[in-house]
Order: sequence, then C-alpha cells, then structure tokens
Amino acid sequence: MAKYGDDNYMEATYIDHQLIESILEKTKNVTDEAIDAVIEKAKFKNGLDLEEIATLLQAHTPGQIKKIYDIAAAIKQSIYGNRVVLFAPLYVSNYCVNNCVYCGYKRENQFGRRKLTEAEIREEVRILERMGHKRLALEAGEDPVNCTIDYIVDTLRVIYDEASEKSNIRRVNVNIASTTIENYKKLKAADIGTYILFQETYHKPTYLEMHPKSLKGNYEYHLTAFDRAQQGGVDDVGAGVLFGLYDHRFEVLALMLHNQHLEDNYGVGFHTISVPRIKKAEGMELDQFDYTIDDETFKKIVAILRIAVPFTGIILSTRESQEMRKELIHYGVSQLSAGSCTGVGGYKESEEGPQEVAQFKVSDERSPMEVISGLIEDGFIPSYCTSCYRMGRTGDRFMKLAKTGQIQHVCQPNALMTLKEYALDFGDEAFNKQVDAFIDKEIERVKDENTKATVIKGIEDLNSGKRDIFL
Ligand code: SAM
Repeated sequence: MAKYGDDNYMEATYIDHQLIESILEKTKNVTDEAIDAVIEKAKFKNGLDLEEIATLLQAHTPGQIKKIYDIAAAIKQSIYGNRVVLFAPLYVSNYCVNNCVYCGYKRENQFGRRKLTEAEIREEVRILERMGHKRLALEAGEDPVNCTIDYIVDTLRVIYDEASEKSNIRRVNVNIASTTIENYKKLKAADIGTYILFQETYHKPTYLEMHPKSLKGNYEYHLTAFDRAQQGGVDDVGAGVLFGLYDHRFEVLALMLHNQHLEDNYGVGFHTISVPRIKKAEGMELDQFDYTIDDETFKKIVAILRIAVPFTGIILSTRESQEMRKELIHYGVSQLSAGSCTGVGGYKESEEGPQEVAQFKVSDERSPMEVISGLIEDGFIPSYCTSCYRMGRTGDRFMKLAKTGQIQHVCQPNALMTLKEYALDFGDEAFNKQVDAFIDKEIERVKDENTKATVIKGIEDLNSGKRDIFL
C-alpha cells in the first residue's frame, strides 16, 4: 500500500471525486422514508457508510433534524460525558508566501509582517498562563525562509519552558503548513501535541482556484501531509475543512474517505476534526464565496460528523458565536477555544488596546472565566486536561481506550481536577463557589467507586497545594 512519502505524493488518489459525486447524485432526491431508515440505523451507534452519510445530509424536516440531534447528543454523552476541553490559539508568525483567496494573511495583503521574538513568545505565553490556559494551538503562516521549522521547534521549546508561578502550558498542538517527513520528525522530537492541518477543501478544482500560484497550491502535497506526519512519527493528527469554499456534502464525504485512508494505512484516523466556517477577513468579502452555509446546515453537519465518527473529537473555535457554541456542545463538539486572539502578538495587544491585522474575525469574545462559568451553568465540565498526550495515550493507543469506553475513568477525574486547579489559581469568590458546588454534584454522579475516590483524593491534594495532578 502506498505510503506517500516526500517523493511519491502525486500518486495519492484516495479522495475519489467520481465516487463522491456518484454517491451525491444517487442520494440527491432520496425519499423521506430512506432518510428515516438511516436515522433508525444511526441509533445503533455503529457508524455509517458514505451513502448513508450522504442520505443523512439530505435530512430537512424538523422531525428528521431533531432525531439527528438527539442521536448525536446521545453519542456525545456516552463517549465524552459532559466534558469540554478548552484551549487557546497562539499566532506566532504572519509571514506567508501563499495567496489563499479567503485568508487575511495572504501575501498580496500589505501590512507589516512579523514573527514573535523569544521574549515576545514568553510574554504571550505568560498572558495565556494568567488566563489559566494549559493547552495551546500554535498557528503560523507558511514561509520557509522567515518562519522555518527550526523557528517552530524553538518556539515549542520556549512555550514549554515558560512557566509562571501558577501555571504552565502542558500541551502544544501545531497548525502549520504541510511539510516533509524530516520536519515532522523534528516536530515529534520537540514534543508536538496534535499536528493539525485543514485541507480547506477536498474538491481539487476548487482547491486550485483558492490557492493560486503558491506553495500551498499543490493539492496532493497538502493532502498527503498526514501520511508524511505518520511516517515522521507524528501519530496524532487533526483534520478540518473550511466550510464555505465548496459544497459541504462533498466535503463531509471526503473527510470520511481521508479518515478511512489513515485508518487503513496507519491503524488510526483523525484524533480531531475542526469545523471552521469562513469569516470576513482583510482583502476578501464573504459574498465572493458561493458555498457559505447557514446556521441550520452547519449544526446538521456537526451532528452528522458526531454520528459518523463517534470517537473523533470535534473542535469549535471562536469563529462561532456564543449561542452557536452553546448549542453545538450538545450535539458533538468536544473541544472549544476560549479568550482567543487571531493576530501575532494579539494577547499583549488586546491587553493594551485594539489589534492590528488578524487572520479572521472572532465572534465569541468572552474571557475564559466567562466561558467556563457559562459551561458550568449549562451542566458541562470545562476541562484543562492534557493527560493523554503526556501519558503516551496518542494515536491508536488513545483510540483503543476510547473505543472500549475505559477512557471515561481517566477523563472524568482529570476534568474535575483541572477545573478545581483552575478555580484555586484564578477564580474569585463567586466563581469558586459555583465551581465547588458543581464539582460536589459531579462527584455524586460518578458511578465507579474507585473513580470517585480518586477524584475526592485529588481535590484534597489540590486544596493542600499540590498541582498538575493527572491520571
Ligand atoms: N498556514 C497554515 C496552513 O497552510 O495550513 C495554517 C494556519 S492558518 C493560521 C489556520 C486556518 O485558518 C487555515 O487552515 C484556514 O482554514 C483558516 N482560515 C483562514 N482564513 C480564514 C477565514 N477567512 N475565515 C475562517 N477561517 C480561516
């Protein structure tokens, strides 16, 4: 089976456009009875094939949509419980040699480009630590000269090294351009968390149109990034589509094919799927894009993804509004960013005043504490857990635990303990009261006696000054 290394990437054909188009054509006019039959099958939580997913994407009556949401919510609850993992993006460089039609960082946009110096990285990290963050997503534009892999590796070292009195960053996911096996090896050696890369669109003609005359413009090289990442030892990867560039139904089926390819070849598919929707950015107008999706379609996509790949985390960013985020954590989202800035040096600038050029506009501008408080009010456990990756539970090792349901016994205690740690270090009196009452209630709900005892002991240890306790 082809592994698609640095040289043979052009041979990658696993996003079979003809297959996807034939399935979309076949399911274009499915009857309500056919949709209802797939909804019934989805209830068994055994996953769905491409044709069934395409059929679900045609659901349209309020009754069908409600059933899809209910199944997605039940799957979310049985696999992830009521936990939601929090993180923040850190933009380190806006140099970019690409000219992506949709992106604020495109090379034709004229603004002062820069990357953070070591001192500036430390300053941003200190601000993020004061916000309570433990998990970051490092973001950079693509520029092999101004933003080299060595700069990214160095940045990882600086981030992990910078610890404040109360906090430290424990996991850094990295969202940088598709690169070589050699470079993925360097990222692995530098303790990367998840390697995240969005295909933007899987539809090759649209991909070529959206990425004119640039390094990123090579569809196959971009597509095979995860093949090279796996060969470089990075076994934890996160995918995504930028919804709005092409037909969302095509993109969802293509995501499934990509995931299947990784499962077949490396024994593990995506750890996460991100679902960014296109937002207004410098140098583009939203009405240039023919495939933007409305809120109802977006919610349906998230719920169908949850049903189609129950064990893959779904990440939602602050591109979405508070209301949308609140609703989607019920139907499938398992990770949220909070308190985000999408400009280089954005955290320092937002402490001091308005930001300069950001990559795109954010919609949810609440602070992490406001986000956490809102989640608790809605019955969710905000989690700063970073344990899996630090305990070596990545790639197929993570998936095995997730699929047997055993992961619950570590995730639940870790979520409650990291929430308590956050409250002790950053909460005010009212917030801490809210957290303590919530944790007491959640401990009562833990059925497994060993897990319960572990949480109670952990909370006691945190109260007496211990930190960074995890299973
Ligand atoms: N430069 C990296 C690459 O080439 O893949 C990715 C980093 S970029 C900072 C992160 C993501 O932001 C992109 O993959 C894209 O999906 C998303 N993005 C870019 N412009 C956007 C826009 N106008 N609205 C929403 N998301 C956008």
